[in-house]
Amino acid sequence: MCAVCDELGEDNTHLFFVCSNNMLCRQRIGLWSPLMAAFDTNANFPTNVFAILQHLDQQQKQVFSVTLWSIRKHRNNKVWNNFTEIAQAICDHAGSLLTSWRNTQIIRHPIP
Ligand SMILES: [Zn+2]
Repeated sequence: MCAVCDELGEDNTHLFFVCSNNMLCRQRIGLWSPLMAAFDTNANFPTNVFAILQHLDQQQKQVFSVTLWSIRKHRNNKVWNNFTEIAQAICDHAGSLLTSWRNTQIIRHPIP
């Protein structure tokens, strides 16, 4: 049983690509079309992730990666803390993490 949507079958493919709440998140980050173009319903989760990454540019890869992290974090918060967030909050967390990471990269590797 999926902890996020209470539908059957929580595995990584469901959580990150099929779960209704997380589908809204993927639509909000603007990667819906490239994700669905590369997604194969018959492939396993790692195969889909690597196929999707090959179809994205560098910035899209960053957004995709932090969104996966935020979706997993939301799922864990729901399971361990009974704390539910809306799709916008999940996307906002991903955006904040990415902004922090990018700022850290600028500090570590300043452009001369
Ligand atoms: Zn679900």
